[in-house]
Amino acid sequence: MSFFFSQKETKGFLFLLFETYEIIDRGVSVAIKSQEPLKGKLACSKGCFNCCKTHRDIPVYPHEISGIYWYVLERLPGNLKETLKLQLHEYKRGSQCPFLIDGLCSVHLVRPAACRQFNVFSRACSPQEDPYYTRREDVLIPERYYIQQAFLRILPFYGLANTGDPEMAEEFIRSQARVLQHIDWMALARRIK
Ligand code: SF4
Ligand code: SF4
Repeated sequence: MSFFFSQKETKGFLFLLFETYEIIDRGVSVAIKSQEPLKGKLACSKGCFNCCKTHRDIPVYPHEISGIYWYVLERLPGNLKETLKLQLHEYKRGSQCPFLIDGLCSVHLVRPAACRQFNVFSRACSPQEDPYYTRREDVLIPERYYIQQAFLRILPFYGLANTGDPEMAEEFIRSQARVLQHIDWMALARRIK
């Protein structure tokens, strides 16, 4: 499957993609608000990136990979492009996320839903910690309603009409999941000029 989009296709796709992420982000805000009183203050903050280093199986969907392709090829500033190209060239399947550059997500605007939703309460993660395994009770539980709405919205990307059936949308989109650390990122590196 090609994740590359032609100029002509890009506009409609981006509209869907950003709507999808807007719904996901709204769901995250709602979940934080409702879970903070029970789990303690949100510990995630800008510049905190241990999770980007420790996680080895981040789910990512084809529409999200296409979004990353678009952003890297069309929007990423030149200096970051060079560094990223190198990181993608040297990337070994299963290593830490290749988009982390100097402690920041180089594709922050189009980072996958899984990254948007991974939030931790109470205290920040220690360097080697993946709280999903060490203290799952502190990890944010995403609001399913928003996930399903986002999945419904992105169905046309897969050539499917939005039938308004959230269960079907969730089942279908989840069946498309890949693992970010298993993608052949060399294919993207080769396109970077
Ligand atoms: S999940 Fe952990 S490492 Fe990632 S931003 Fe939140 S506190 Fe920091
Ligand atoms: S895509 Fe960005 S936020 Fe997600 S793991 Fe990679 S660097 Fe972190």
